[in-house]
Amino acid sequence: MVNRIGHFIGGERVAGTSGRTADVFDPNTGTVQAQVDLASTDEVAHAIEVAAAAQVEWAATNPQRRARVLAKFIALVNDEMEDLARLLSAEHGKTVPDAKGDIQRGLEVIEFATGAPHLLKGEYSTAAGTGIDVYSMRQPLGVVAGITPFNFPAMIPLWKAGPALAAGNAMILKPSERDPSVPMRLAELFVEAGLPAGVLNVVNGDKEAVDALLHHEEIKAVGFVGSTPIAEYIYSTATANGKRAQCFGGAKNHMIVMPDADLDKAADDLVGAGFGSAGERCMAISVAVPVGEETANALVEKLRTRIDKLRVGHCHDADSDYGPLVAASAKERVLDYIEVGEKEGADLVVDGRDLVVEGYEDGWFVGPTLFDRVTTDMRIYQEEIFGPVLSIARVDEYEEALRLANEHEYGNGVAIFTRSGATARDFAARVNTGMVGVNVPIPVPIAYHTFGGWKRSGFGDLNQHGPDSFRFYTKTKTVTQTWPAGEAGESAGSSFVIPTMD
Ligand code: NAD
Repeated sequence: MVNRIGHFIGGERVAGTSGRTADVFDPNTGTVQAQVDLASTDEVAHAIEVAAAAQVEWAATNPQRRARVLAKFIALVNDEMEDLARLLSAEHGKTVPDAKGDIQRGLEVIEFATGAPHLLKGEYSTAAGTGIDVYSMRQPLGVVAGITPFNFPAMIPLWKAGPALAAGNAMILKPSERDPSVPMRLAELFVEAGLPAGVLNVVNGDKEAVDALLHHEEIKAVGFVGSTPIAEYIYSTATANGKRAQCFGGAKNHMIVMPDADLDKAADDLVGAGFGSAGERCMAISVAVPVGEETANALVEKLRTRIDKLRVGHCHDADSDYGPLVAASAKERVLDYIEVGEKEGADLVVDGRDLVVEGYEDGWFVGPTLFDRVTTDMRIYQEEIFGPVLSIARVDEYEEALRLANEHEYGNGVAIFTRSGATARDFAARVNTGMVGVNVPIPVPIAYHTFGGWKRSGFGDLNQHGPDSFRFYTKTKTVTQTWPAGEAGESAGSSFVIPTMD
């Protein structure tokens, strides 16, 4: 009997009633390790009702008390870090140290959200007019939804839940059906930390559950992270239904390598950023753009030697640099892309297709793959592969490298490796991308700055975490007040012109 994963509603685990389930796999072996219930429209509506009832009191709790719940939650997660990381790794396929990073980067946003008392402070203008004061306050939206991808099953749910809950909202989290166990356990830990039952609910599910959230009147905002076609669908549907939405999509992150770069560091960082987590990161580097033939030749050689030493294996094996892909379909997609790249005429320097991990022959492993002389007309350049495949697109000069990054339809992250401050500055100012690394391969901003891609990597006006997240999860109310002075006097009578502050 495989483990059955239901939902987390009203502060407890509940079994699904829809009769529909999805398999949760062990990607190392390709076998089913659990089944997850897929929520029906009615089950989602019930979770929303529970959340709406719990939100009223939670919103009335002062922000410092809400922050204390978050602080306690951080301690509980840290106590359970090892078990959570192994659980996450077992469903996703990333290594245990990488899984700890996933949880840690989520906790950093919870730490940031404990600043809610400060972040929710409004503005105050005294004597804005004669005897008139004006002040603003930030109020929660009500019930909000978080819809998250498989590749960061701890970090992204926590990026959503931290600011939303700290601001006084209740949340329905719809995590990926591929690796639902960690989001479920995190919700349980929130309740152990003192979060009132019903404030955070997890509904597992697929399109039916998502559509139920998008069409329910009580859901006031939708935070989504996943692939671009779904991000576009969710953004247009949610906004058409009058909801606030921020939807983050796919990526094709470039790393520009200038002739003056530290090439050993660039090669080390490229291997980590290209192949870490089997390339299943939205901030993975998937295109390296060396400037000049000499830089390109040297870089390819350095990459080849490093790739030779990479160890791909079971995600719980301490020797593995990276583990399997998340699903059979993911492996198939990556293998297809490698074939497409070959047919398109790219130079296949390292072919990862034949990799077999001893003892795990049915696991969804793909070896590190390197294509050289990739050009902008190729599909392997244009499309997100989301696997351990790195492309080299050679250019002759800096302006051409900048143009490549700027003309790509995605604009999530980008990096430049150089020793020149002037080049780096120019690049940071002119590149058309949301997050920029200077000699930093994966420039995921720290929690108190914001995270968000441009172009077809992000839809909506505000970013994730940092000050933007509190703006996204609150609405501003502005109060203009005056008080009668002393004894009641004679009213000046009605005025029929727009009030001005005299
Ligand atoms: P996905 O788009 O398949 O799924 C994301 C979420 O949407 C899941 O909860 C899923 O159940 C739901 N979903 C899937 N199909 C749906 C449909 N037809 N209608 C409604 N909901 C649907 O993405 P994924 O495979 O889980 O994650 C990988 C993708 O996420 C990659 O493209 C990656 O670049 C992207 N990603 C982006 C960021 C970012 O911040 N920009 C971060 C992480 C991942």
